Amino acid sequence: MPGDTLINQLRDTAPGQLADSLFGAHSLSTRAADEPVTLSGFFTFLVIFCLLVGGPFIINRFLEAWRRRRAIRAGLAELDDHFNEHDALLQQFNGYYKSLTQPMRRKFMERVVWFMNSKQFECVDLEFEDRMPWLISAAAVQISFGLDKYLLDFFDTIFILRHNYNYGVYQKPFEGHVNSQGIYLSWDNFLRGFSDYTDGDNVGIHEMAHALAYVNFMAGANSGQDEKFIQRFYQFSAVARPIFNEMQNGQSNMLNSYAATNYNEFWAVAVETFFEKPGSLNIELPDLYQALCHLLNQDPIKPDKILNG
Ligand SMILES: [Zn+2]
Repeated sequence: MPGDTLINQLRDTAPGQLADSLFGAHSLSTRAADEPVTLSGFFTFLVIFCLLVGGPFIINRFLEAWRRRRAIRAGLAELDDHFNEHDALLQQFNGYYKSLTQPMRRKFMERVVWFMNSKQFECVDLEFEDRMPWLISAAAVQISFGLDKYLLDFFDTIFILRHNYNYGVYQKPFEGHVNSQGIYLSWDNFLRGFSDYTDGDNVGIHEMAHALAYVNFMAGANSGQDEKFIQRFYQFSAVARPIFNEMQNGQSNMLNSYAATNYNEFWAVAVETFFEKPGSLNIELPDLYQALCHLLNQDPIKPDKILNG
C-alpha cells in the first residue's frame, strides 16, 4: 500500500543520514561546539521534511484510528443497551449464531461490532438497511471465530448489490466476488444462503472464505495476515489437495462440483459445506472435516465451537 511505503521510506532514510552527519562532524572539525549546531540544524531540517512529507498522511491515519476506536466504543455501548434486539436479529438469520451457547453469543456479537466498525458498507443499486452490516459482519465472524485475527484488515469496503451482476469479461452472472477493491455480495443471494442453512449453498460464507484466503495469501504483507493460520493452511492442503485433484479428474463427492473449478473455489466450497453440512462432511470426508477444524480452530458441531483458546 502507498501509505505503508511512505512510512518505510522515512524510517529507512533517517538513520542513514544521521549517521553520515555524525561522521562528518567528527572528522572535519575539532570545534566540539559546532557539532550540536550542525546536528541541531540538520535535525530541524529532518523534522520539517518529515512533517511536510509524511505529516498529512500520519495525521490522517491517526485521525482514522481515533474515529474507529470511538465508533467501536460507541458500538459496544450500544450493544450493551440493545443486546436483545441484535441477539434476536442474528438468531433469526444466522443458524451458526443461533446454535451458540449464551456466553459465546456475547463474544460473537462483540466481534461483529469490531468488524462492522472497521468496514464501509456501500450499497450499489439498492437501499441501505440497518441489518446489512450486522448480518454481513456475522458471516465473516462466523468463519474466523476460532482465529486471533478476524477483521480481514486488508479490506476497507464491502459492496452490496441487489441481485446477480455481471463483472468484467465473464459471461456468467456473479453472486459475489472478492478483489483488491473489496468484498462484493448480492443481497438477495446472501439472504437466500442463510435462509436455508443446511443445503451447503451460502454466498456469504463462500465470499468470506475467499476474503480470508485473499488477506493471507494474495494481498501481500498486511496487518490482517495471520501467521498461525498460514502455517496451518499447508497442513490443510496436505489433506485437501488430493481430494481436489480427484474432483478435477472427474470423481464426485458430497462437495458441490463447482469445487473442481480451481483450488481457490475448492477452498470456498469446502468452507460453505463445513458450516452448513458439518455432520455429513464429518461422515463422508472425515479427514477434510478434521483438517478444516484444525485450520479454523473450531468445530461447528460442538456448542462452543472454538477448540483452543
Ligand atoms: Zn468462489
